[in-house]
Order: sequence, then C-alpha cells, then structure tokens
Amino acid sequence: MPFTPNASWTLFLDRDGVINQKWENDYVRTREAFIFLPGVKKALKHLASVFHRIIIVTNQQGIGKACMTHDDLIRIHGYMLEEIHRSGGRIDGIYYCSELAHDNPVSRKPNTGMAYEAKADFPAIVFEKSVVVGDSESDMEFGKRLGMHRVFLTRGEEARGVIGAELADQTFPDLPAFVAGLSAQIKG
Ligand SMILES: [Mg+2]
Repeated sequence: MPFTPNASWTLFLDRDGVINQKWENDYVRTREAFIFLPGVKKALKHLASVFHRIIIVTNQQGIGKACMTHDDLIRIHGYMLEEIHRSGGRIDGIYYCSELAHDNPVSRKPNTGMAYEAKADFPAIVFEKSVVVGDSESDMEFGKRLGMHRVFLTRGEEARGVIGAELADQTFPDLPAFVAGLSAQIKG
C-alpha cells in the first residue's frame, strides 16, 4: 500500500545491500571494503528532507564470529557518516547486532530489539509511522512485526523471484528508485 510520509515519520534503513555493496562471501571488514552503491549518497540527501529521523539497523555477526571487531565497525561507520554528511545527507542513529544468528538474539533482525533501542533514544518514533527499507526477508519480517511500512529492494534480481519480496508493501530495484517513487507519491 502506498504511504505518504511527512516530517513526523522515521526511516529505518538496512545497511548492506541498501547503502553499500554487499559481498557474497565476506563481511565489510574495512573501510576500503565499504563501497557506496550508485546514487545512494544523493538519495540519502533527498531522504533527509523527507524524514524526521533516519536510523540504520544492521546485523553484523562478523563481529560475533571474530572476523572483525567493534572498533573495525565503528571506523567503517565513521567513514560512512563522513561521506553521507559531505553529500548533504544525515543519519540520526546507527544500531547494530554483533551477535550470532545461531543464538537468535533479541536485537538481531528479524527480531525487533534494535527498533526498541532506537525508540528508547528517540521516544517520538512511532513504528506505524515508520518505513523500513531492506534487501532481505529478515528486514521485511522485522518491519511486519513492528507494523511498519515495508519497502523491499530487489537489487535487480526481481526476475528470479526474491525471498522476502512477498512481505513488502512496495518493491524497488534500489534506494534511488525508492526515492523517485516516493517523490511521485508525495506529489500525489
Ligand atoms: Mg541487507
């Protein structure tokens, strides 16, 4: 179902595969491996003018597996934020879950812990006035459990029938396409 966000809405963004290139057989462990997807910085600049809060929620079990450290992730996020700010964008909070999927931690998507962490920091967040944008089934399930509007990014794979898309309210190829769709919806 289409939705018309205004300045009271919150945008929850997944990170890997939405903001930056996802690597099939590795985690993003260094800032050199953090590659912004095409058009994303410009898209984030636009989104900053639409949403009151923009929150990143990201599963990072590479830390739990000891492939990387919390400090590695903090360095990567420092670089990411610097680049986003330089392009006129804004991220209001980053929440990550470093624990292993195997342990089914409360903060790992599709579980909803990170959304409640964000709400503790930003009490004005209303989940029903939130949109989650992600490229995984777990992002869509996370949004469904919280009553959020759900936008699935197919990363160009729609022809193959992507797992997770059926839980979405809307699908787009990538974040810039979502922004284009949103602009059209807002103009009505
Ligand atoms: Mg992802």
